[in-house]
This record gives sequence, C-alpha cells and structure tokens, in this order.
Amino acid sequence: MKNPPFTYHRPEALADALSLLARYGDDAKVLAGGQSLLPVMALRLGRPDHVIDIGRIAEFSKLVAGPGGTTIGALVRHAEAERSADIAAYAPLVAAAAPYIGHRAIRTRGTLVGSVAHADPAAEMPAVCLALGATMVAASLDSTRAIAAADFFEGYLTTALEPNEILTEIRLPAWPADAGGTVVEISRRHADYALLGLACTAEVRDGSISSAALSFFGAGSTPVRISEAEAALVGQAPGEVAFAAAAEIVSDQLEPLSDIHGTSNYRKHIAGVLTRRGLAEATATIGAYA
Ligand SMILES: Cc1cc2nc3c(=O)[nH]c(=O)nc-3n(C[C@H](O)[C@H](O)[C@H](O)COP(=O)(O)OP(=O)(O)OC[C@H]3O[C@@H](n4cnc5c(N)ncnc54)[C@H](O)[C@@H]3O)c2cc1C
Repeated sequence: MKNPPFTYHRPEALADALSLLARYGDDAKVLAGGQSLLPVMALRLGRPDHVIDIGRIAEFSKLVAGPGGTTIGALVRHAEAERSADIAAYAPLVAAAAPYIGHRAIRTRGTLVGSVAHADPAAEMPAVCLALGATMVAASLDSTRAIAAADFFEGYLTTALEPNEILTEIRLPAWPADAGGTVVEISRRHADYALLGLACTAEVRDGSISSAALSFFGAGSTPVRISEAEAALVGQAPGEVAFAAAAEIVSDQLEPLSDIHGTSNYRKHIAGVLTRRGLAEATATIGAYA
C-alpha cells in the first residue's frame, strides 16, 4: 500500500526539529529508521500530516559504552549495536537482544531509540530497558527531562513522551561485574515478533543471588517485570530449585493476552519455561563480558 500524502521535513539540527514539533505537535511524527512508522502509515493506522526526519542530526549518532554506563543516541541502528564490541562488553543485554530484532535489513535501518519510542509490547528493546532500569532523555523546545523506564511505557504503543518531545538518547547504568544476562524468546519463525520473551539479569555475590530482573515482552500492553519472582530469587543459590520456584511465581502472576498466535494459558506456560532457561543462561554468563 502507498503512504497517504504528508509534508516531509529534514532538519539538520535538533533545535530545528524541536521547533517543527512545537509548531505541528499532534499532526507530526518523528521519522528515525522508518521500520515501524512507514508500515503504520501505509496501513493507515497513523496519518501524520508532517513527518520530521531526524536522520541528519549528527549528535544523534552518539554511542558510548564503557565501565561507567552506556549512552545510545537516537540514530544508533540495531545493526551497529549488534556489531559493537563495547556494547557486547558493557551492555550485554542489548547485544543479546539485537539478533532477535527482525531481519538484518530491518536492523540496518531501525534504531534502538525508535523501537523504545514506538513501544510495541512484543519488542525486545523496551523490555531490555525495563530490566536494566534505563533512563530515557526527552527534549522539547523548552526543556529536557529524564524519564525512568518504569514510568515510560504507559500502554500499547503509548509512552510518557509528549507530542512536542523527541527522545534524544537512552542511558543504561553501568553493568555490574558480578552480573549475567540474556534474552530468550519463543517466536513462530526467526525474525517474527516474539509470542513471548524475557530479558533477564542476575547478580551473584558470595554464592547467592543478590538481585535479579525478569522483564517480559509479548505479555501484555507494555513490557512487564514480575517483582515477586525477582525478590524470591534473592538470597538463593543459583540453580534449578531457585529457578523453578521463580518460574512458578511468574506463570502464576503474569496475565498475558490471548490472540490468534496463542492463548493466555500457553503464554503463561512458556513464561515459566523461559524463566528457568533465562536464569540458567544469565548466571552461566557471569564474568564472561568485559
Ligand atoms: C518485518 C519487520 C519485522 C520486525 N521485527 C521486529 C522484532 O522482531 N522486534 C522488534 O523489536 N522490532 C521489530 N521490528 C521493528 C524495528 O525494530 C523498528 O526498527 C523499530 O521498532 C523502530 O525503529 P525505527 O528507527 O525504524 O523507528 P521509526 O519507524 O522511524 O519510528 C517508530 C515510532 O517511534 C517514533 N520515534 C522514532 N524515533 C523517535 C525519537 N527519537 N523520538 C520520538 N519519537 C521517535 C516515530 O515517530 C514512530 O512513531 C520489525 C519491523 C519490521 C518491518
């Protein structure tokens, strides 16, 4: 299908992009990689009169990953993160998620920040951000604010971003030396959105789990953490007994939706399976990064 008509803007600087957004607000959409926006427009699920292409804003290419934490600018593509040795060492959950995101061609254009702004509940990167306690940085003409991942995802394709704001970057905290992490998912075919998936981290100190994050995608209208299962892991020795107990809580508490791809009960079951699998993989990777 062809896109409906719209006015195309290609500002060279952030201030110009923000001025355009201030002027057109609800009638405008930011274009990053276009891998979600263009299908949405072609299917007439969204019909902005103005499209503001941020592809020429140089500062958005920033990608810094090191012992102090990770900053991902609004134009960093999934493929760049997938190839980056620094991301593999200092943001390994991002590296683990990248290969699951669509096909290589989609990852070559699509951006991490665009994926977070789009907020598809079945997407990997929003769940990764929620697991890691990421901070989203949003700029408007008047101000810049930081939004915690826990407050950012409000519903299906809905975030805390205002119509006059651009998400300029995502900040991830430093990766702890004694943490491991992984992304596991079930999908019908490789590169499909997941039926259900898990972004998972675990920290182990002196032989017992000191913290864990279990962040599910494809499980509702937003990514969701199951804090009771995370808390139950703390103080336990990493192993099948602790992982199975956490899995039971997850299957009990998660309330996934049914759709044509799978029932809620099926998703609850695979959430338990992925919890055991994810925690085993996460704890096996501790110390294997930087
Ligand atoms: C066939 C196919 C399969 C896919 N499979 C997966 C998958 O398995 N997992 C997955 O996670 N994704 C998948 N995707 C989506 C892909 O990852 C997109 O790249 C991503 O969701 C959006 O990134 P983008 O840069 O293309 O954003 P765009 O399409 O340009 O924008 C998406 C939305 O975010 C807004 N936006 C973008 N950047 C900003 C910003 N900086 N500030 C404010 N708003 C912004 C736009 O206005 C728009 O509403 C798939 C896409 C396709 C076409």
